[in-house]
Amino acid sequence: MPVLDQVVLPPGWEISPRLLAAWPIDGLHTLELWPRGRTDDGRIRWYYRLSRGRRTIFAASDISSAAGATLTTGELIRAARTVLSYLTLQPGDTDPEYFDGYAGTQLAWRDAHAEDLSLYALEDVCGYCGGVDHVSPGCTAR
Ligand SMILES: [Zn+2]
Repeated sequence: MPVLDQVVLPPGWEISPRLLAAWPIDGLHTLELWPRGRTDDGRIRWYYRLSRGRRTIFAASDISSAAGATLTTGELIRAARTVLSYLTLQPGDTDPEYFDGYAGTQLAWRDAHAEDLSLYALEDVCGYCGGVDHVSPGCTAR
């Protein structure tokens, strides 16, 4: 398995050309992420980029770990699931204002793909194999 800065990446993950940990979610979508410093209260601040093919859909660093988290394979898996769960929010999941900051391309992506991709963001079942002892970013069965 690839190792990035001494952290073993989860099964099936890659190191992206940008030197970020990259989770190939399905045939078209990839979530890249890697820490970008810490918040004032000691949380890992995650930079992330969700792309479809070569096109960036979302890129930001507005999601953080729990306080005191250290960078491990398990933490990467947790962060990937958390990030994807936000990016696949759909109308009805949250306040309508949540989407006010979305660009047109992001809204179009949400309407076309968020529902399908949200399967891989579930917190109690793996979207690949249906296993209940791990979440999708850590699936070893695919
Ligand atoms: Zn699985």
